[in-house]
Amino acid sequence: MSEQATTTDPVMPEVKLNLVRPNAPVTGRVVSNDMCLKGKANVWVRHTEIDVSGTPLEGNFLVGQSFGVIAPGVAANGKPHKVRLYSVACPSWGEDGRGRIVSTTPKRMIDEYKSQRSGDHPDRHTLFLGVCSNFLCDLQPGDEVQVTGPAGKRFLLPVNPADHDFVFIATGTGIAPFRGMAMELLEHPDGPCPSRIHLLMGSPYTSDLLYDDLFRRLAREHENFSYHTAISREPHGASTRGIYVPALIDEQLETFRPLLESPRTLLYMCGLLGMDAGVYRTLLENNLAGQYIRVDDELQAIDPKQWTGKQIKRHVHTTARCMVEVY
Ligand SMILES: Cc1cc2nc3c(=O)[nH]c(=O)nc-3n(C[C@H](O)[C@H](O)[C@H](O)COP(=O)(O)OP(=O)(O)OC[C@H]3O[C@@H](n4cnc5c(N)ncnc54)[C@H](O)[C@@H]3O)c2cc1C
Repeated sequence: MSEQATTTDPVMPEVKLNLVRPNAPVTGRVVSNDMCLKGKANVWVRHTEIDVSGTPLEGNFLVGQSFGVIAPGVAANGKPHKVRLYSVACPSWGEDGRGRIVSTTPKRMIDEYKSQRSGDHPDRHTLFLGVCSNFLCDLQPGDEVQVTGPAGKRFLLPVNPADHDFVFIATGTGIAPFRGMAMELLEHPDGPCPSRIHLLMGSPYTSDLLYDDLFRRLAREHENFSYHTAISREPHGASTRGIYVPALIDEQLETFRPLLESPRTLLYMCGLLGMDAGVYRTLLENNLAGQYIRVDDELQAIDPKQWTGKQIKRHVHTTARCMVEVY
């Protein structure tokens, strides 16, 4: 669907793409690889910093983009492992201020083995460890890592951030780009951006919150930055039940309605596949969706609560003011 440009549509920066391709990755070196959870949790997520100096990635990635990692070894088919993408978690100037050290937020993917193809034992249920996320989380400072990229040309901060306000919605490792974006907006060498910035983070438990200390500090130091958490498996307020991000938006409509109605606001969502559906429903139910999504006629007669993931993918289109990255 072609969007008609309005004065409030963001002007996005030019990006460099695929300077390093998966068939010829370059070598980065791990600088640090620390846990970034709030407390003892039943997931494992790290903040991994990789030195890419001297490679084409140096100084050529933007916050919001991702980069590729190729784990060593071969897959079950005997071919080298495929590239996996990881979001840039630092500002565009890198962890070092000069674009030499890029960071990301890998979460160990752990599951039970399931039969994938004919010939696999149907009853096998041994531990399955995701190839690349566990490779990344295992790395030690000094270790080498094969990287590619950068990737992504839409999930970006606008050229003139002060022209906009921002609603960032994250679940899980979807927080990675918002760490970089919040730092880029609020800790810019030229001074903090005065725009209103609201970050909503959804996680099952408080202990799963990522970079929580950083966001609390930024909220203390910048009155234009608000940090909201939606914890789904712990009691919320007077209720014995938890709360998800869409319900939190509903609950705090006096804050979010004026923000989402403002022609300045840009909406960003990053995280688990399907998280966008719940947010779209809340926006539609509160008559706030128009600036962020267009819904094809095929779905107009169906209650948004009944929309399937497939229908959303096909018939819900984001406008220039809504950036979504789900995986
Ligand atoms: C733009 C983008 C940005 C991303 N950013 C991040 C990020 O910042 N942090 C992050 O952690 N991830 C991120 N991801 C996801 C990341 O790319 C990987 O998909 C993720 O780390 C899992 O990769 P893996 O190699 O560990 O798992 P894989 O080995 O690729 O397994 C992937 C899936 O296949 C299933 N699977 C495969 N084979 C079997 C089997 N035999 N039995 C059971 N299950 C099986 C697993 O359950 C798992 O869900 C991003 C993805 C995209 C597209």
